[in-house]
Amino acid sequence: MKIAFFSTKPYDKIWFAPMAKEYGFEIRFYEMPFQEDTVALARGYDAVCIFVNDYVTAQMIQQLYEMKVKALLLRSAGFNHVDVKAAEDKILILRVPSYSPEAVAEFAMGMILTVNRHTHKAYNRTRDFNMSLNGLMGVDLYQKTAGIVGTGKIGQAMIRICNGFGMRVLAYDPYPNQKLEAEYVSMAELLSESDMISLHCPLTSETRHIINRQSIENMRQGVYLVNTSRGGLIDTDALIDGLVDGRFGGVGLDVYEEEEGIFYEDRSGEIMRDENLARLMTFPNVLITSHMGFFTQEAMQAIAEVTLENAYAVENGLPLVNKVGTEAVKQ
Ligand code: NAD
Repeated sequence: MKIAFFSTKPYDKIWFAPMAKEYGFEIRFYEMPFQEDTVALARGYDAVCIFVNDYVTAQMIQQLYEMKVKALLLRSAGFNHVDVKAAEDKILILRVPSYSPEAVAEFAMGMILTVNRHTHKAYNRTRDFNMSLNGLMGVDLYQKTAGIVGTGKIGQAMIRICNGFGMRVLAYDPYPNQKLEAEYVSMAELLSESDMISLHCPLTSETRHIINRQSIENMRQGVYLVNTSRGGLIDTDALIDGLVDGRFGGVGLDVYEEEEGIFYEDRSGEIMRDENLARLMTFPNVLITSHMGFFTQEAMQAIAEVTLENAYAVENGLPLVNKVGTEAVKQ
């Protein structure tokens, strides 16, 4: 099988190249993203392998179909960046449904600890031998209330972590799992009761802007909000207004509504034209990271293994256990 990889970074090659060799796959690593003006590079390949910010439109799917590309291999669990409906009967879409839920959940808790206890600021201060503690006070998480939105694989890992911290854990999910050590409540109750809210639901038409002006108004004063899921879950304009009004104790964003083309790239020498992102950077209680919750050795290894297993299944007509179909999408 010949596979064209897009949006590849050095760390992708480290994991994929040796494994692909074992499978006998021929791989071409493109650093550029997969987008309208790079689709043509997929000509002659059996499959295209993409990452979270490679948005695939109906028109691009039609082009792939005409080039006889058989499969779109997602190096991610989320598939909101692909027009799944348009792909039906044209191209197979396969994803990595689970690689390391703990990687993302641990990162989410790390973000909460950072914005709460200001370790990022303390690190900078002590480098300058500024040992003052002024402005670095946080709160105990012990016996505080955590609100987990979405109790799938990552949400469950987050629930375990929050229980480990001795927190009361509330959860909201349209499909509750009564086996979890969490108390399911309505979204409204979760918003008004939680000292910390962590988002772990997928981005769908139902969850877009699940955090909006109204939901922010319903949150507790001084709440901590963490989003390691997808940027579109939060209405950024409403978030900024809430931050200006002093509603939040801290906000951790590993994802951002308009991250495409910005995240994963070094833009340090350029003028930042995204005004919302630039504004978010000005708040002392906001921590932004570049969609890296997944980024552990264990997760990278699992992503490479499952992606190539998916390719192998396509090549050999095996059951496609990780196929994404229209039934998975509520659009
Ligand atoms: P999952 O499919 O196991 O769980 C998602 C859960 O969300 C399900 O239980 C589902 O019922 C629930 N859900 C659906 N609609 C909801 C709604 N309206 N309100 C509340 N809950 C709802 O997915 P997962 O593996 O736990 O991943 C969750 C998300 O995390 C992914 O969709 C992806 O966007 C994101 N993610 C981010 C990173 C990162 O690096 N930051 C890495 C992997 C995944």
